[in-house]
Amino acid sequence: MSIESLARPDIVAMRAYSSARSEAPAQGVLLNANEAPRSLLGDAGADWEARLNRYPEPQPRLLVERLAALYGVDRGGLLVTRGSDEGIDLLTRVFCRAGRDAVLHCPPTFGMYRIAAQAQGAAIVEVPRAAAADFRLDGGRLLEALDADSRVKLIFLTSPNNPTGDAIDPGLLRRLLEHTRDRAVVVLDEAYAEFCPRPSAVDLIQDHANLVVLRTLSKAWAAAGLRCGVVLAQPALIDLLRRVIAPYPLPSPVVSLALRMLEQDMLQRQRELLAEVARNKQRLIATLAGRPFVRRLIRGEANFVLVDTASAEALLAYCAERGVILRGFPADPMLHGYIRISVGSESDIAALAAVLDAWEETVEEQA
Ligand SMILES: *Cc1c(COP(=O)(O)O)cnc(C)c1O
Repeated sequence: MSIESLARPDIVAMRAYSSARSEAPAQGVLLNANEAPRSLLGDAGADWEARLNRYPEPQPRLLVERLAALYGVDRGGLLVTRGSDEGIDLLTRVFCRAGRDAVLHCPPTFGMYRIAAQAQGAAIVEVPRAAAADFRLDGGRLLEALDADSRVKLIFLTSPNNPTGDAIDPGLLRRLLEHTRDRAVVVLDEAYAEFCPRPSAVDLIQDHANLVVLRTLSKAWAAAGLRCGVVLAQPALIDLLRRVIAPYPLPSPVVSLALRMLEQDMLQRQRELLAEVARNKQRLIATLAGRPFVRRLIRGEANFVLVDTASAEALLAYCAERGVILRGFPADPMLHGYIRISVGSESDIAALAAVLDAWEETVEEQA
């Protein structure tokens, strides 16, 4: 069975928009894209400034090559997107018929899976994580939910998960991939993979036509401002996404900077950053541990921790008034009382500690 049989028939039937730049390389006398003949910025600045009058490459060749080398895949199995957010949206649009198909996700988790499903008119099947077990995935319930609902076309899993920090058990992932073969697409969002010592699931792609892995430069590459994400899957699945992606998703300044990010010296800088985050995470945990208002601290395997507190709302407001911004989840009943804290710099953690000290005194005075 082919991946096309899982996709929306109208997407399988359509042809990708053929943009001027995808039909012919940007060389020679370019009179095919209704562009201006020159950039108003002139040619004194960055290389892209002089070319700003030109549309960028739809999938910049050099960037695709660098990313393919980084993740250890062939070029045909990779699509560069405007952040992972765009990848999530493309997948939902390609595989879910409005009003008929469903997306499965496991809350508490990243909110964009739900938004993409709602925007597409897909139903949402939830397999909640168990609060009592540090919100770990319940593999048994996941498989049961799949068997109970034949509408599910797309399964979003996150490893490590946001905001609970747990990584998926490799045995469960394999079982799930077998279980969903010819039935549904499994999307493993590895936005935080670099912070976690476990191997990526990328190597499973060659044996599983229904596996998609999402990576991003937003977290461990310290480049959230770039908006650069990557979808990894077998070429047949990637080809379906190419049909609906915007013709020029990556602005030329972004491509230029992304290439800079992936130069050899950046790997060393990234290693240093990851070591710094690991050290600071220990500091953050030490700062939080033993405080009377911390009911539970879920460390997870990413660059944040999740804390169950006695009074999340008041604490969040208190910190915000003093310039320390943490993440609460007021709209999520499963996360009532929880606060997610990103691992910042050493001075960020010191600032947090000072505010928490002051908060403790306030609470003690009131008691
Ligand atoms: C932060 C995050 C992303 C990154 O999204 P971008 O659009 O690439 O910035 C993706 N997935 C999860 C679970 C995240 O927490």
